[in-house]
Amino acid sequence: MTHLRTCPLSGRTTLLSTTRHHRPHDYRVEERRLHDVDCPFCPGSGADTEQERSRLTSPDGARWSVRIVDNRYPAVMEDARAATAPADDHPLFPSGEACGRHEVVIESPVHEHRWSTMGEEHLSGLLQVVGERVAWLCGMAGAEHVTWFRNSGSLSGGSLRHPHSQLIATPFVPAHVGRRAEGARRWWSDHGTGYFEQLVAAELERGVRVVAATRHFVLLAPWAPRQAHETVVLPLRRQPRFGALPHEERRDLARLLHRASCAYERAFSLRGMNVVLQQAPIGAADAADFWCWHLELIPRNGAIGGLELGTGTHLVSTAPEESARILRAGLAALAQEVA
Ligand SMILES: [Zn+2]
Repeated sequence: MTHLRTCPLSGRTTLLSTTRHHRPHDYRVEERRLHDVDCPFCPGSGADTEQERSRLTSPDGARWSVRIVDNRYPAVMEDARAATAPADDHPLFPSGEACGRHEVVIESPVHEHRWSTMGEEHLSGLLQVVGERVAWLCGMAGAEHVTWFRNSGSLSGGSLRHPHSQLIATPFVPAHVGRRAEGARRWWSDHGTGYFEQLVAAELERGVRVVAATRHFVLLAPWAPRQAHETVVLPLRRQPRFGALPHEERRDLARLLHRASCAYERAFSLRGMNVVLQQAPIGAADAADFWCWHLELIPRNGAIGGLELGTGTHLVSTAPEESARILRAGLAALAQEVA
């Protein structure tokens, strides 16, 4: 059964997909393995049989380096109508068809790869395929929002170690996304300038929350994080949606993500990391005025608690200024090693 239900008070949507019960969970296995015979994403195993949507091959063309395939346990489906539960048409119980696409990005054929070990060239290729696919999904009929997200580590919500992420195109604008887009639109009309460019300029001027600034991007610890040591990657050139980035920007972003992943591993003993692409709703035709895509890096060291779940208020034990200082030191140590 796959369908969506909405809370009439908050606008929050729940995707109900009972098939996801059957997903494999290799984080239940404690030891780390170089290759897992049961891993559905290793070459020669299960995902080879899923419908492939995109692939990047190695320079010699001998093998794939990134593949995008259909999710075997989709939260939304193109033919959701057939899988939808009977609706209750009372206004207390809003529901809908969970139409959309849910795909898996198998980020490498190598089971034990992480962003910190993949290398910049490989990460740049990954960003290329993901960007192209995000752009394609944004043009899909009925899609109201598209995101790319990554759950890695036992506390991330992920179920498999093999490096992978997911793309999802939903027929609704998630409430959190809609609220932030409205906030950015209001900022534009109140201040006459975009929130994101003003933020980047102010953070670069202050410096205390800036972890790294490159030619095209800035990595900073946000003013009001949800988790300790959270960071966000913002492009210096305002673009409403993530898509096919110019080659130089893509290489710059790959290098930054690689270095940031190394710095995180060096500085903290994390039990998980979520990466989320934040894009404007597809229907926001004026998004180019007020929105800029960004990538959130959200480290996970504990479960989400009652205060967070019940009120949306987050308790964080380290100031973002301190997180930025620690990560800056980690990046400086890495640079010294390379030199
Ligand atoms: Zn694997």
